[in-house]
Amino acid sequence: MSAQAKRTGITPQANDLRALEAAAATRLLVAERILDYSGHVSIRIPGQDAFVIQIGSNSRAEVEPGSMLVVDYNGNVLEGDGQPPSEIPIHIEILKARPDVQAILHSHMELAIAFTMMEGVKLVPMRARASRWKSGIPTDPDPSHIKTEEQGRALAKTLGPHHAVLMRAHGLTLVAESAQALFIDAVHFKENATAQMQALQAGAKPLPLTDAEIEQIEKMEMRDWHIKKLWNYYVRKGITEGVLPEDWGEPLIPSREMLTRDRTH
Ligand SMILES: [Zn+2]
Repeated sequence: MSAQAKRTGITPQANDLRALEAAAATRLLVAERILDYSGHVSIRIPGQDAFVIQIGSNSRAEVEPGSMLVVDYNGNVLEGDGQPPSEIPIHIEILKARPDVQAILHSHMELAIAFTMMEGVKLVPMRARASRWKSGIPTDPDPSHIKTEEQGRALAKTLGPHHAVLMRAHGLTLVAESAQALFIDAVHFKENATAQMQALQAGAKPLPLTDAEIEQIEKMEMRDWHIKKLWNYYVRKGITEGVLPEDWGEPLIPSREMLTRDRTH
């Protein structure tokens, strides 16, 4: 164990997998046009006031697990060599406020931003998978970059108990229970925003999911299995298309057992 790992009490192996998952999710989010030259993914280190995040200036399309940083809640770099993203208070303040959250995405997704710039229009769950956001998708009013503790705290407060928060004229932040879940949620978030925008562009009145429909969808929901199924698809596709190095497949692709459903419908 390295001196730094001793200092943080983190096993290098566990950290390596977190860094690998964060790197893979980041590259796949670029491939899905959810991240580009900016935006970032963080993963909490359980039991520590610390998390894994990329170096702010590194290309999102080429991020490597070996260059990931471990950063504490004061923004200090505990492991790695580089500066974290300037909007690090987003991650710090949400991880502090939400012990249930293990992974955070901050993105400047154009479609999400569009929904903060239309009078009388609110992004709502339209597609079945968007039942994830049934509690609501609030919009934080601060349009500037989130660079201070105070701004981060205000954003975490706007997010509240929800799983997504839009940021006025700036972007969005999603939270989830794992890096895999975060990536799949981001894919579905974009699909849902696209569906609502298509309804608006057709000149139609969008028909969001009703409470009764959401209840029915959730009766049939197998979130954990669904995440593994889609993660398997996207990791394999990413390797085939050269988005992910081939040797990332073995540690990232779910086993056949993991992809076996425990319910039959
Ligand atoms: Zn931003």
